[in-house]
Order: sequence, then structure tokens, then C-alpha cells
Amino acid sequence: MKVLFVHSSDELYGSDVSLLELVRRLPRRSVEPLVVLPTDMPYKGDLRQALSEAGVPYLRMDIGVLRRVYMNPFGLMKFSYRLVRSTVALRRLIKREGFNLVHSNTGAVWGGGLAARWAGVPHVWHVREIVEKPEALSHLMAWQVVTFSSRIIAISGAVANHITDLNPHGSEKISVIPNAVDTERFSPAVVGSDLRQEWGIAPDEMLVGVVGRVHPWKGQDMLIEAMPLVLKRVDKVRLVIVGDVTPDRVSLRENLKRRAEELGISGRLIWAGYREDIPKVMAALDVLAVPSTSPEPFGRTILEAAACGTPVIATAHGGPLEIVKEGVTGLLVPPKDPAALAVAIIQMAEEPEWRERMGKAGRAEVLENYSVDRYVDRVLAVYEEVL
Ligand code: UDP
Repeated sequence: MKVLFVHSSDELYGSDVSLLELVRRLPRRSVEPLVVLPTDMPYKGDLRQALSEAGVPYLRMDIGVLRRVYMNPFGLMKFSYRLVRSTVALRRLIKREGFNLVHSNTGAVWGGGLAARWAGVPHVWHVREIVEKPEALSHLMAWQVVTFSSRIIAISGAVANHITDLNPHGSEKISVIPNAVDTERFSPAVVGSDLRQEWGIAPDEMLVGVVGRVHPWKGQDMLIEAMPLVLKRVDKVRLVIVGDVTPDRVSLRENLKRRAEELGISGRLIWAGYREDIPKVMAALDVLAVPSTSPEPFGRTILEAAACGTPVIATAHGGPLEIVKEGVTGLLVPPKDPAALAVAIIQMAEEPEWRERMGKAGRAEVLENYSVDRYVDRVLAVYEEVL
């Protein structure tokens, strides 16, 4: 079968990595993929490079992707114009190349569903976000997703509930398929000591890291606020921020740096920027923090850390509630609460053996429930169902 994937970015963050894992592992005997990538943002093109390295064909197109930058009258006009044009172009592509199925990889790409409906082919909508505000938008998205899909794949129960709470008709067509992680690439066999050395971390220091785009809802600021509280109790703790700002939010990084200086913790903080060697990063960390202030739809980094045997501290909402086994593979703390975050970090620092046990339990959990083979089989089952 020929499957047209429509995607909303060209980076290598969560939704991009999930798409890459899927298309590179789909059996080529039965699935011929083509990935459509957007051109409306100045992306460096990390995903397209990874796709070509994996031998997966892609096409760049000026598709309409619903982004916060378009949330103004002029922006909405631009979005609508792109949406109409790209829907026409996608329909033409589906017809010309004989695609059997369209798979939209995030809730932000609307043209795939419209074009599939128009061309008369099934549409699988892979929803990876929880949009809570503005409320009108979240209702519109839920309506759109339910109306223009043959089947919805939600990456967590939290995402599925969010859709069905807003539009109960969705419950008949939703499957929850959690993301998966490559357990060979992310493994306890990966060595992180050279990276620790590069960052100047002593063997007896506990390194806490946050890995992901630097964004207001990802909660890097919460960790910075927690650090002085941690340091009152334990001394040998360092913090690393891995990942970078999106092209539209460059000033955020400077604001965070300024705040760290005000709090007197700059010396404890490493800015690693975007890194391609995340398995090594996870191996170098003693604890991964996921301090997101809005619910993570999933939280792929939790799986990546666990697969390397690194325990996590995550905020207790959204996907992490389903992935983290409290006290067994990591700790859950209330969102937007630096003091609670500090308590959890102190606990981790004071109990290294428990930390290690949680890391091992995390690896076992990933092997059992989050393998890529199982993930691919489940997605293929959805394709077969809609065809
Ligand atoms: N990531 C990366 N390099 C970085 C920061 C993040 O490769 O410097 C990857 C990380 O390994 C993970 C993804 O980006 O695969 C982040 O996924 P998550 O689900 O945590 O967040 P999202 O980006 O989907 O909001």
C-alpha cells in the first residue's frame, strides 16, 4: 500500500522522532511511504536529512500548519490561504500517485484530512498534542480531527480523553498507541562518562537534566527556580539544559540565563544546546527531569531515559502519569511547584541505590511495553482496519 504522511515540522523533536521511527521501520514489502514536510518556518531540516539517510522519500510543500504565530487576523488569513492551496495540491498528489491512505502525523496539519476526504481515501489522524487554550481552538481541533478521520491514533490516554471530552463522537474511532523507543540505540550499554567529563561533572556529582525544546511550557524555568532550594540541602548537584529554543522564541533562552544569574546558580547550570547524541546524554544523566507546566501529551524523553536505565522526575499530568510508575521507575511531582521538584531532586540525591533500582525497573518496563516492533504492528493493524 502507498501511504502519504503529512507532517508539521522539520526538526528532530518528539513528533519528528516518532514519525522517523515509524517510517524507517514500516516493512517496505507492504508499505511504500512518502513524507510531506512543511516549508512555512525556517527549519534547518534535521528531519529531512534523517529521512534521506534512512532512504525514505520526502517532499517539501507549503502546507497549512496551525501554529500559535498564526493566532491573529492576518495570521489566520495566511493559514487559510496555505490550507486551501495545500489541500488542492495534496489531493492532486494522492490521485496522481495512487496513494491508498493518508496519515497525518500531528493534530496541527489539517490539509491531509481534507485532501483524503476529497480524494476518497481513508485518513488516519495521529494526534500528539493536548491543546487547552484558546478554548475555541481546542474545540475546533477536536471537531476537525473527529470529522476528517477514518481512525484516530492518540499517543496516550491523556490525548484520547482530551479529544473525547471535547467531542464524544471520537470515542468510536480512537486507538491509543503509545510511542516507542529504539531500545538498542537507547541502552544501558551506552557510556556517558566522556560527556560528563566534557561538561566538567565530577563522578560524585549528581547530574539532573531536562531534554527537549526550550519553551515556556516545558518548565525549564521551574528547574532553575528549584535549584537554590536543592542546594540548601545537598551540595553536589548540577543541572544541564539540553535542547534549544524554537526559531520564534529566541529571547526565552536569554531570559532563563538572566534568571539563573539572579538566583546565583549560573555556575551550576550547563547550557548544552541541541544535541544529536541523546542516548549519550541520557547515559550521562543521573536523573532526567520533565518539569512541563502543561500536560505532556506523551513525554518521549521519559522512555529514552528509562531505556538507558536513568530514572525520571516528571510533573504529574498528561502522558507521564501513564508512563512513570511512581516510586518504581521515577517520581511524580505536582506541576508548577519548584519546591516539590526540589524535594524530589533531594530524595534522588540522598538515595543513590534507590535511584539505580528505579533506572533498572525503567529499562525493564520499556522492553516490555514500548518496543518499536510492537508499535509498528499496532499502526499496521490500524491501516488494515481502515482499508
Ligand atoms: N531531542 C534531541 N535533542 C535535543 C533535545 C531533544 O534529539 O537536544 C529529542 C529527544 O531525544 C526526544 C524529543 O526530542 O526524542 C523530545 O520529545 P518529547 O516527547 O519529550 O517532547 P516534544 O518535542 O514532542 O514536545
